[in-house]
Amino acid sequence: DVKVVTIDGPSGSGKGTLARRLANRLGFHLLDSGALYRLTALAAQKAGIALDAPEVAALAESLNVRFDADGAAYLDDVCVDDVLRTEQTGAMASQIAARPDVRTALLARQKAFAVAPGLIADGRDMGTVVFPDAPAKLFLDASAEIRANRRYKQLIERGLSANLSALVDEIRIRDDRDRNRAVAPLRPATDALVIDSSDIAIEAVEAQMLEYLRA
Ligand code: C5P
Repeated sequence: DVKVVTIDGPSGSGKGTLARRLANRLGFHLLDSGALYRLTALAAQKAGIALDAPEVAALAESLNVRFDADGAAYLDDVCVDDVLRTEQTGAMASQIAARPDVRTALLARQKAFAVAPGLIADGRDMGTVVFPDAPAKLFLDASAEIRANRRYKQLIERGLSANLSALVDEIRIRDDRDRNRAVAPLRPATDALVIDSSDIAIEAVEAQMLEYLRA
């Protein structure tokens, strides 16, 4: 019996960090589904395929990717984690993520992460599309300013360059695209617990999540 816990929300809501913490604490596997969209975009770029070309879906289906124990991503056995996490790659990912054919191509790969004892699935449509029957669903939100601030700190910590006001704009554009697309728009599943983390520390959010999972 595999227990799947879904965590959806917009970028910078803290779901990546919380998903990793919960997976470690519970001894569950982790699916960073955003990384698959990012990797597909990078693979297209590497192959010289335009993001709106029909070939992108086939590329998504045949991606040669793996994640190491720290969650770093490898494309064709080359670590691409740094370029993967940039805002530019996030923007490309959200463009291809609006395509139904690409979403379908990544579906089976995502479902395959559900292995005993359990999975923490992090993304935009984990609770609504990929794992609609999951017994535990969380949706993390926070204001665009706070999310941009968190992303800014993450980028600086990684030694990458960042511009706060540009980040706020980029996050808004990406949110709008993710929320308003025709397929799998970003929104909480009807049976998800929604947590707004704007004004609470990550430890407090984690405590709320653990309490929900225990119930
Ligand atoms: O979570 P992350 O920022 O890595 O996701 C990058 C982009 O991939 C998102 O902006 C979104 O457009 C897309 N995505 C998605 N469905 C998911 C995960 C990510 O559409 N489950």
